[in-house]
Parts: sequence; C-alpha cells; structure tokens
Amino acid sequence: MHRTHYVGDLRAEHAGQTVALAGWVSRVREFPDQSFVILRDREGVAQVTVERDNPAFETARRLRAESVVRVEGVVRLRGEGQRTSAYPTGDVEVIPTSVTVLSAAQTPPFPVENAEGVNEDLRLKFRYLDLRRPEMLANLRLRSRVQAAITAFLDAQGFVNVETPMLTRSTPEGARDFLVPSRLNPGEFYALPQSPQLFKQLLMIAGVDRYYQFARCFRDEDLRADRQPDFTQLDMEMSFVTQEDVLDLNERLMRHVFREVLGEDLPSPFPRLTYHDAMDRYGSDKPDLRFEHAFTDVTDLFAGSEFKAFADAVDAGGVVKVLTAGELTRKQIDELERVAKLKGARGLAWLRREGEGFTGGISRFTGAQARALLERTGVQEGGTLLFGAGAWRGAVEALGAVRVALRDLLNLASDGPRFAVAWVTDFPQLDLDPDTNTWTYMHHPFTAPHPDDAHLFGTPRQGEIRALAYDLVLNGFEVGGGSIRIFEPATQTRMFEAIGFTEQQAREKFGFFMDALTYGTPPHGGIAWGFDRLVMVMAGAASIREVIAFPKNNRGADLMALAPSEVDEAQLREVGVAVAAPEATAD
Ligand code: ASP
Repeated sequence: MHRTHYVGDLRAEHAGQTVALAGWVSRVREFPDQSFVILRDREGVAQVTVERDNPAFETARRLRAESVVRVEGVVRLRGEGQRTSAYPTGDVEVIPTSVTVLSAAQTPPFPVENAEGVNEDLRLKFRYLDLRRPEMLANLRLRSRVQAAITAFLDAQGFVNVETPMLTRSTPEGARDFLVPSRLNPGEFYALPQSPQLFKQLLMIAGVDRYYQFARCFRDEDLRADRQPDFTQLDMEMSFVTQEDVLDLNERLMRHVFREVLGEDLPSPFPRLTYHDAMDRYGSDKPDLRFEHAFTDVTDLFAGSEFKAFADAVDAGGVVKVLTAGELTRKQIDELERVAKLKGARGLAWLRREGEGFTGGISRFTGAQARALLERTGVQEGGTLLFGAGAWRGAVEALGAVRVALRDLLNLASDGPRFAVAWVTDFPQLDLDPDTNTWTYMHHPFTAPHPDDAHLFGTPRQGEIRALAYDLVLNGFEVGGGSIRIFEPATQTRMFEAIGFTEQQAREKFGFFMDALTYGTPPHGGIAWGFDRLVMVMAGAASIREVIAFPKNNRGADLMALAPSEVDEAQLREVGVAVAAPEATAD
C-alpha cells in the first residue's frame, strides 16, 4: 500500500504537498460544519480537518476510535491562531481528498489515549492496545536502541554472538527450574536454562575467546516488580582475563550505551565498594547511591549501656548502627518500623534530638553517651536517629530496608544524579543457610575463590573466603553480576565438596562440564547484565513489565494468551506425564 509519510513526521515544510497517510483514529471531534480526526501512527499524531463540503465528511463522522484508516490529502499550514506546540505536527493539518476505513475497530476496553490509572491486568489482557500508547512504544524503541548500541560496541571489540540451547540440563543460579517433558524419552525432562553459564564456559574451552548473547533465561521463583519468569540477559564471557579486564570492558560498554542512547555521561572509573562495606554502610549489596544516608557505627557507645536490648546485642558480638534522618512524623516512623520488621527486626528503635538530649523510645540514653551520639551522627535539632542492632548481617539488612523506605517516603533520590552506578566486589564465596545450617554458593558454583583465601576451603573459616565476583549496581538495582571462573578441575571439586556435593552427585549433574575442564581450559571470566532491568532504569519505569512487550503478571500468568493452561489428556499421555491432584491447602 502506498504511503508517503508517517503521520507524526508532518511539519510546516510539507505544506502544499499531497500525502498518503495510514494509521489509527485516535479520536474524532465533531462540530456541525467541521470534524477533526486525530490520526496516529508510531511516529505521533496529526490532525485531519474535514469541512462539511468535503466528500469525505460523512465517512469522517462515522470513524470510530482505534479503527485503521488511510487518508489521502494535502498538507496545509494552520492559521496563526490554530497552531499548537502541544504536539510536533501542530503547525499543520491535512485536508483529505479521501478517507478509507481499512479495518474498523470495536469499542476498546480502555481508552488508548488516556490509559492512566487503568488496571494493569486489563492492560496486559489487551496488550496490543496498550502497546499503541506512545509511552509503551517509546519503551520498546529505547530497548531496541540499547540492544543496537551494545551489539555495535561488542562487535567492534571482537565478541562473537553465539546462541546456546533452550532445551538443556539444569544450570544452577539459585532458582527452581522450568521442566519440559521429552516425548521421545518418556519419563525424562529437559530444563530451560536459568542462564547460559555452562555453555559460555564451554565456548571458552572451545577457543571462542570472547562471547556474547542476548539470552533468554528462565527462573521459577517468586515474582516482584523487577523479576519475570522468563527474562533477557546480556551474557558475556572472555578468556585470558583478570577481574580488572572484565570490569574495564563493562565500564566502557556501559558508558558507550548511556552516551549513545541517552546522551548521559557516566563517571570514569565507576565507584567501587566491597560487599562488606556496601552492607556495613548501606545495609544492601545493591545500594542506591543517588543519595548518601550511610549508617554510623555506634556499637562502642552501647557496650554496657542501660538500654538492655542494645547492650545485650553488643555483648553477643553484634553491632549497633544508626541511620540519621531529618524530622519524621510518628506515622512515618511507624511505616519504617513495619519495613524493618518485614526484614526480621524485632522493632525499630528511634530517638529524636531535642536540644542537647533526646526523646523517643530509648530516651534514657543521656549524659556523656548522649553527647557522643550527637557528635558522631551530627543529627540536627528535631532530626531522628533510627537504629539497627543485633548480629551484623540481620541488623544492617533491616536498617538497609529502612534506608530504602526512607528514600521513597522523602523522595531522597530526586536531589541526586539521575544515574548512580557502582561496582560491588569481594562477595563471599559461600553462604550459610541459617535454616538448614548448610553451606551454599553465593553466586554460582563455578565462581573462582580469591587466590589468597582458597586455602580456607573445608575449614571452619570457609565462610570468610572472598570470591572473584562482582555486581554492577545502578540506582539501587543489581543490573549485572559476574565472576572470574574456576578453571582448574581440583578447585572445582573442592568447591563442590564445600557445598556438600559428593563426587558422585557432582558427576551426575555436571560430569560433562568437569570432563571438559580437563581438556585444556583457559582462565576465563564474564558477566551477565539483567537487560530488562537496565532498560527499566534507563526508561525511568516502575516495573520491568513496562519494558517487555508481552510480560507475565505478578502471578506468572500471560493474561492475553492465557498461559499457563491445562492441556489435553492425549497430549499428556504422549509426553508420559500424569497430573497429580493439587495438594489440598489448609485454610
Ligand atoms: N550466569 C550468571 C548469572 O546469571 C552471570 C555470570 O556469572 O556471568 O547471574
């Protein structure tokens, strides 16, 4: 079909030209002698003005919102008083010679023009209408531009784009697998990849040297605003590199992307924090650094203090940390306390500065100790001190959640830079699961230990082993994570032992990979970026669902295609699967 211009591209310079346009009817404004049809396509909107004596007048009158039409006509400069800067085509209008309905639309379930406040499930059910909204289309186009910028950079750096299988074996990244039954091998299952981790390492063993892929990954875990069961990673791996090489290349890539796509300059080099410092100062391994509000350590001030809860915590080897905030209402403090409790704290102790002393829940705290507290925190008159006390990790994590909630309550991030990026390094290699008292991996079992710490494997101090692992953090989101990998078979075996895999279990799960390590493996390392999350932050969107064309809702359902769904008995028989009755839930 012949089309001369995108609707949204019309400008004053086109005045006098005959054009053929095609698009959606955004709305029609009718007057006795005139109708204005607002036509829309992916580039924007323009006004088609139809006078009563125009042969297209009757057709224009009957147009319904969201129908697809073709308009031929002449572009005319609007009269002085009629111009508008509300949209880029506002200097012109189109006088039609013909208006043809190509596809009539029934009444849409929500107005595409004004979907503000429409229930998200309804938007997801009619996603194709939702995506007609300029904001949504802009997000998809931003995503496409980010992908193009990344591809151009990595191609120029000699990276090879390789696809890895979707139907494969389990690749552990700490989530549950999605399983796919095999018809040809009844009783057997593929797992969808949680990441291409093992395949990209095998590509290094194969000699590819530099690999990347926009990889779809599948993780069956509880959903949040920044998680989907299937999502996209920018996955990378490099041979003969150190941690510094990986960080350096990724910084340059990230700076390139932000410059190309948003015209934003990120710092060089990126700030770095160790895992310990990030946790100790901000209570998070992905701190939002658009604002400071770091914790002050006041453990020493509470040793043997009258405030028994804190004194006991210090006695037991714990810490007392304080977050200094401005004036807070009682209601705000209650809200922050709720957040602390969700993170496992028993409550949120607080003090308000009044003169040279304090009021509040633990105001018995007076005299020289109070003066020290004033001095160390620098709290202003009327300002609030919020405390986290107990064993280090629990105490800082609870106060870290309070810090984030405080940001949202008081809009703390809005005064800072638009983007605050940082590396978090020196993660622990192993993590003790408090419920089962067993060791597990912190990143994944293929991450290399710091060479200075590797001798601690198998000793009571193995929790102190640092990993050569790093996360890329942006505005409080983990947008990337990676590591230098184990490349010596003996170290890989020690790592499996440390997390309680017997030789036989390790061989059953990863035998093919352990064998591959013995055929000549280059030292290697890499990273994966959470691509959806990155685009979400770049778009300033509140959820990754806003930057994914067809996402699932927060219960993992595709409300448009209606997935997941039951399948025919016959189909189940074919793949050798019987569905057990759902377990009765006690309520
Ligand atoms: N496979 C890792 C992940 O998905 C990333 C990496 O280590 O490169 O988190």
